[in-house]
Amino acid sequence: MHIQQCRIRGKEGLWELEISDGRFQKIRPQQAPAELATAVPADQIFARSDQDCINAQGRLLLPPFVEPHIHLDCVLTAGQPHYNMSGTLFEGISTWDEYKTQVPLEVAAIKDRARQALRLMAEYGVQFVRSHVDVTEASFKGVQALLELREELRGTMEIQLVAFPQNGILSTRGGKELMIRAMEMGVDCVGGIPHYEFSRDYGVDSLKFIFDLAEKYDAMVDVHCDEMDDEQSRYLEVLATEAWERGWGPRTVAAHTCAMGSYNDSYYNKLLRVLQASGIHFNACPTESIHLQGRTEPYPKRRGITRIKELSSAGLNVALGQDSIADPWYPIGTGNPLRVLDMGLHVGHLLGYQDISHALDFISVNGARNLCLGDQYGIMEGRPADFILLDAKDDYEALRFLSPVLLSVHNGKILAQKQPARAAVYDI
Ligand SMILES: [Zn+2]
Repeated sequence: MHIQQCRIRGKEGLWELEISDGRFQKIRPQQAPAELATAVPADQIFARSDQDCINAQGRLLLPPFVEPHIHLDCVLTAGQPHYNMSGTLFEGISTWDEYKTQVPLEVAAIKDRARQALRLMAEYGVQFVRSHVDVTEASFKGVQALLELREELRGTMEIQLVAFPQNGILSTRGGKELMIRAMEMGVDCVGGIPHYEFSRDYGVDSLKFIFDLAEKYDAMVDVHCDEMDDEQSRYLEVLATEAWERGWGPRTVAAHTCAMGSYNDSYYNKLLRVLQASGIHFNACPTESIHLQGRTEPYPKRRGITRIKELSSAGLNVALGQDSIADPWYPIGTGNPLRVLDMGLHVGHLLGYQDISHALDFISVNGARNLCLGDQYGIMEGRPADFILLDAKDDYEALRFLSPVLLSVHNGKILAQKQPARAAVYDI
């Protein structure tokens, strides 16, 4: 495959890329305009051929989007057995409990729903996904289904799985054994939910257990942490301290940390010390949190979103994820990371000029850091030929128009392509 006349995010001018054997072989400033006559223009439906020469016509090429936080076992279940009427996190959890008892989980059905969601995400440029999977569901059909899907899609779309104790580790009888079972089956990351455990002690003990498991299985850590408005929900300090003590920071993600939006600044500034010392990463889910949080209070209402702007300014890595696509917690969603980013930029006060120039990082390189993708990710000669081509000339245009992904290529093969919609407007 040969891509011509593209802009590469973060570089000046126009570039051309040569791809073969699944890797970027040559990335160089545009040199051969004579070949353009034979190239397929990027706004036409491409022939499905990995040998095509494509004229990007000045459009923006960047590494693929990363979905760092979703629950593939729950996607596309909204309304079953009923909708979440209060819109709270806790009614979401109890509705999921009802679903698990009333709709017997079947491996084939879970895989089918997850595949539908992954197809949507692929259409929007996602190639790397980290999914939580509920391990407090005793049949373990969700774990089995997603492990199978991870292997079936390896090389096409990359999936990491997190053992997620939806109902708590210590607050579920046999919870520790369920976590161990999931790790033994080959799940990639250890998850947790300390703020939902029965007591403060259980929450703290669950975090110590999570890191014990991570060390034993040499696994990454990704914990739902302080996903509530209670400013006394302070498990993040415990999580970061454990990560610091064990040298596990770069392999640790604190997800949500909504309570940080309620912490007083004095406590936050003290907390920052261990966050920076530990080097842990963060994940926020702005569409999910703006919907679920702030439900128990009168006006004025808090936003229930972690401090995306402040953490980023402090040099900490923050990625944005969607969490849900039509499930008991969040009834809508399309799989489009740009939609999540759009919400995050608004609720995070992140529409300054400098903010906009870095914004796409939240759904690309920052997510790649959370997933510890390392040399597997990035537009560089010799690396896997994974990229997307947006129907936009720069970051600003991509954000303004939530531009479609015209082409998504993974390991040098076309994963998805799209014909941009063009409207005709009259008499203005
Ligand atoms: Zn989640």
